[in-house]
Amino acid sequence: MTTTPDLLGGCQCRAVRYRVTGAPIAAALCHCSMCRRANAAPSVAWAMYQQLQVDFLSLHPTVYESSPGCRRGFCPRCGTQIMFAADYLPGLVDLTIGSFDDPDALAPAFQYWHAERLQWVETVEQLPSYAEFPPSEVLWPG
Ligand SMILES: [Zn+2]
Ligand SMILES: [Zn+2]
Repeated sequence: MTTTPDLLGGCQCRAVRYRVTGAPIAAALCHCSMCRRANAAPSVAWAMYQQLQVDFLSLHPTVYESSPGCRRGFCPRCGTQIMFAADYLPGLVDLTIGSFDDPDALAPAFQYWHAERLQWVETVEQLPSYAEFPPSEVLWPG
């Protein structure tokens, strides 16, 4: 029998650190406009856990009520979005997969709020891609 190893994560400045124990209930990519605005990102990958599976190791995220009954937690020092909790999801907490030390350990299984996605996310995979920062002729052609 295999057991899921504990996973660690936190914010960019490392003031907020957390550990999760056991497998997530779900891992998914959200395209809703609230996540997009809060994270200033086209979409947000979330891993859902029971609150009992999540331990904050030092500083707790600062909580902002983004809509009635919905709370978003972020680092008060560097602003990294860390968590989401809502009255309609009692006992559960979502963590941003991008804040995990190994985000590749949590592959999304589905997308949701797909009706609110940005239209251009459909074509991103077809764009020219550069392994690192693009060469100057790409940024400033001619
Ligand atoms: Zn921070
Ligand atoms: Zn969302």
